[in-house]
Amino acid sequence: MWPRMPDLDDRLRAAAETFGTPAYVYLEDLIEARRAAIDAAFGRWFALSFAVKSNPNAHLLAWLRGRVPFLDVSSGGEFARAVAAGWDAAALSFTGPGKRDAELEAAIGGGLGELVIESLDEARRADAIARRLGRRQDVLLRIAPAVVPKGFGDQMAGRPSAFGVDAEVAPETLRAVMALSGLRVAGLHIYSGTQCLKPAAIAENWRIFMAIFGELCAATGLRPEKLVFGSGLGIPYHPGDEGLDLSQIAGAIGAELDVFLARFPGVRAVLELGRYLVGEAGFFVTRVVTVKESRGTRIAICDGGMNAHLAATGHFGMVLRRAYAMHVVGGSGPEEKVDLVGPLCTSIDRLGQGVMLTRVDSGSLIAIHASGAYGPTASPTGFISHPAPVEVWAGEAVRRV
Ligand SMILES: *Cc1c(COP(=O)(O)O)cnc(C)c1O
Repeated sequence: MWPRMPDLDDRLRAAAETFGTPAYVYLEDLIEARRAAIDAAFGRWFALSFAVKSNPNAHLLAWLRGRVPFLDVSSGGEFARAVAAGWDAAALSFTGPGKRDAELEAAIGGGLGELVIESLDEARRADAIARRLGRRQDVLLRIAPAVVPKGFGDQMAGRPSAFGVDAEVAPETLRAVMALSGLRVAGLHIYSGTQCLKPAAIAENWRIFMAIFGELCAATGLRPEKLVFGSGLGIPYHPGDEGLDLSQIAGAIGAELDVFLARFPGVRAVLELGRYLVGEAGFFVTRVVTVKESRGTRIAICDGGMNAHLAATGHFGMVLRRAYAMHVVGGSGPEEKVDLVGPLCTSIDRLGQGVMLTRVDSGSLIAIHASGAYGPTASPTGFISHPAPVEVWAGEAVRRV
């Protein structure tokens, strides 16, 4: 599944040489290809919503306008970024477990499409704010399912959760939210797990969503206009990971989606995702500052590590710490074992231990794959005051964004 483009290394090297390292390089053609693939596989059922938290780069958000119909924001700050990037607030949904009153007020007052309700308390606060502003705010009730199939990287279901309303009490809660005059329930939302590479598990998860949505609508008389399916689509991060075949997912669940959606005339089903759209289109390019030998091990010390790319050092919710797939830009010859670390004065700043790479010397550029999501803004860039990574957009022109 790795993009094998003949000119990939030329593009990465040009970006690094022009704008410096560490650098995140986003390849526009790969994002567009992925967007088209999602549309081709799932467009019959779903409209796409991009989760801004996975990559809130301003240029990306502006580029997505007109290419995907919706964005999901997770804070007042992301709401402001999306609007500043030219998005109509009506195309935005707003999730997040800890929305403050000031954020609710800015979003509701700013014409937000749908507020995703995570708890009854939040619904009551939003209701009061909407009534004070003289508005009736569209909302989606987020449900926390009691089960998530095996195969999801980050399981949020079945345990006490800050996210959404427990499925067990969802009917009462939905009735209570429907009774609030400042809110209008436009539909339902579930996002209960992510980073799944198993088509059958993704299909099973959507089957669980459909059961919950169907039962809730039957129990309360809700006629949903929007049903948001948090996709859970994963991407290959590590050597040996196998990317998803979207046609397998569509084949496993398509007929059931047809039947289910036909029950709700006029409903808009939405596939909400982040990493699957942009993750594999991004490369993290770091330059080796120096190489040393220590007790028989070759250690390459890079100019960006945990500070610039937390996830690649295994500290972003991973259960197992495994090196991301990576290669030496322009590298050739036999592979040898090397430890890759970042520049921080802490032993947890490790990009890979015993990684097999072509020869690495000081000055070498290392490209870490699958780095287009949860990059700079998911990293502790202030720690130890190294320069923050640059972000580079490689489209028709290559430019810093
Ligand atoms: C983070 C998040 C997503 C995106 O998750 P990915 O794993 O990047 O696809 C979608 N929906 C919600 C509510 C989220 O919090």
